[in-house]
Amino acid sequence: MGSESRESFLPLDPVSFTNESKAVVDFIADYYENIEKYPVQSTVEPGYLSARLPESAPYCPESLEDILKDVNDCIVPGLTHWQSPNFFAYFQANASTAGFLGEMLCSGFNVVGFNWISSPAATELESIVVDWMGKLLKLPSSFLFAGTGGGVLHGSTCEAAVCVLAAARDKALKELGGWEHITKLAVYASDQTHFTFQKAAKLVGIPPSNFRLIKTTFSTGFAMSPETVRSAVEDDIKSGLVPLFLCATIGTTPTGAVDPIAELGKVAMEFKAWLHIDAAYAGSACICPELRHHLDGVELSNSISMNPHKWFLTNMDCCCLWIKEPHLLTDSLSSDPEYLKNNASKTKSVVDYKDWQIALSRRFRALKLWIVIRRHGLANLMYHIRSDIAMAKHFEALVRKDGRFEIVMPRKFSLVCFRLKPTAAAEAEDDGRELNSKLVEAINSSGRAFMSHAVAGGVYVIRCAIGSTLTQQHHVDALWKLVQEKAQSLLTNHSIK
Ligand SMILES: *Cc1c(COP(=O)(O)O)cnc(C)c1O
Repeated sequence: MGSESRESFLPLDPVSFTNESKAVVDFIADYYENIEKYPVQSTVEPGYLSARLPESAPYCPESLEDILKDVNDCIVPGLTHWQSPNFFAYFQANASTAGFLGEMLCSGFNVVGFNWISSPAATELESIVVDWMGKLLKLPSSFLFAGTGGGVLHGSTCEAAVCVLAAARDKALKELGGWEHITKLAVYASDQTHFTFQKAAKLVGIPPSNFRLIKTTFSTGFAMSPETVRSAVEDDIKSGLVPLFLCATIGTTPTGAVDPIAELGKVAMEFKAWLHIDAAYAGSACICPELRHHLDGVELSNSISMNPHKWFLTNMDCCCLWIKEPHLLTDSLSSDPEYLKNNASKTKSVVDYKDWQIALSRRFRALKLWIVIRRHGLANLMYHIRSDIAMAKHFEALVRKDGRFEIVMPRKFSLVCFRLKPTAAAEAEDDGRELNSKLVEAINSSGRAFMSHAVAGGVYVIRCAIGSTLTQQHHVDALWKLVQEKAQSLLTNHSIK
């Protein structure tokens, strides 16, 4: 029986491909239909899944029906529902029909376009679509293939950070005369910069003691001060270090702060440091003319990255990285093993994206971003950004109207940072930290919404990040009601104690 069933076994049988794919699409459609019924943040305990699944893999094939039943019964309860309209935590990961279709095509073709010849369409569409995206953001032509630069799609900002740091490192070490100088290289970022830049600097061999975290304060809205950067750089130069890299952020993760890139660019140029702009979240917003000014000064940077997989209706994963001198990236990352040699690469007239990233293999992500842009058009993409910002303004106004709360820093993009004001003596002692963390806990454990927190300038803030694809204003109103209800019961309990 075993051998018989193996002979008729076809992993890519056209009939079951069609039927089973449709069943999964129906399953996902049903999931979206019911998504509001689930607690937004999963309520399972650590290790919950091993208690539900067999200890070892099956020997005989199982039916899709059985598998989907387990997905429903065992996996869905362990999901935190990022696509729920009541998801307000971290930064959203926008899904869309167009993004999903792009993923399907990417997965369906399953080509591996590491160099041009391994799938010319994958490479050429990627170069075209990063130029499209760059033009939507009005990046100078020095970042575009149509000009003198170029771009690539990575899976994450973290990966982009490692690659640009490696490029900057190798350029500097060449100028300094060799690898032994690596201990002199210093990297600058603010205390609001995403932690991934510290990780990336460590990965490319920068001594952690040479990573400078520039302190930010309330007074500058947690933006990095060019003067503080300058004095840190000057101090380091005095002690023999070489300023390598400065990372500026448009839309920091804790509070959405925007670093002044034009002024930081001048400092970076003066000291010949590489300036990278991390616009992972807020970059998407800069397609709107009224928000484009956040990118003023981008022409002074060496590279810039942003994540369409956050706020640009592009399902995970997709990070755009543009670089002014792509040869610095490929000088650092290229490899030329015999088994990949081919005529197209030899002529150097083509892009071989394996030399723009860490891995060899790569996904055809360009299809997804291309379909997202085409299916929505700039008009609807701007509408998406603007309506999220309008909902955030609405939420901010609701918070301002309730005297028990305060907006800790003015709304940035679609992120509102607020808290319950500490009043009682016990609350004043820890500046309301315990009170507000209890409030977040109460909201999240209700299952009706999910928010996260940050600490900036020593202050614990509740972050309301609006922008899940399915979120509408009535969800925001319901969120505010929930916040008030939980705050009321917390404050009542406090006063009884
Ligand atoms: C989310 C985020 C990152 C990390 O992005 P990944 O693509 O998950 O690596 C980096 N920087 C900022 C400002 C972010 O918001």
